Amino acid sequence: MEDRAPKFIVHEWYEDHLKRWQITAGQTRAMPLETVVIQDGVVHQEAGFVVRATQLDHGVPVMAYAYEPRCRPKVRGDQMDVLEKEPGEKVVYATDFRDSPDNIRKLSELARDAHTLFCEASFLVADRDQAERTQHLTTETCARIANLADVRQLVAFHFSHRYEKQRDRVYQELQKYTDRLVIPRKRTPPPG
Ligand SMILES: [Zn+2]
Repeated sequence: MEDRAPKFIVHEWYEDHLKRWQITAGQTRAMPLETVVIQDGVVHQEAGFVVRATQLDHGVPVMAYAYEPRCRPKVRGDQMDVLEKEPGEKVVYATDFRDSPDNIRKLSELARDAHTLFCEASFLVADRDQAERTQHLTTETCARIANLADVRQLVAFHFSHRYEKQRDRVYQELQKYTDRLVIPRKRTPPPG
């Protein structure tokens, strides 16, 4: 049983290095693993991709992540060639952080030239007070980050419950500040 017990590797992020442990089900002690040095924000890499991270502030520390494929397969005729030199499309995910110059700078650096940025846009500008109180973004700041980072497309999410029945208002306001927004298609009920 011991060999087959589930194992987990946990990481603790310290800006320039990661502390790592292995936790095994049924064992009370975590086994320390080698520390990993973080370079250029890279917290994980495999043959085909790297993952970068940065820490944002939400009253508590939170992490934002960028997934960057090293290259993308390209179909030429009926052959699939992997072009090593053509970088893949970067995808960045960030939610639960406040509107601060530091957060805006860190996330726009992480998201620089990304294909898609998934970013929270919790509140309308009219509800800025509530955004500040809860340490979330307004549509304006979300859109500004997408523009600063020059991302190809912005997917906004994590809207406040107060707009549950008026999501269109949030999208409309985002569109005032950026032309990078993609709006998910409405699910139409099946006919009949
Ligand atoms: Zn939240």
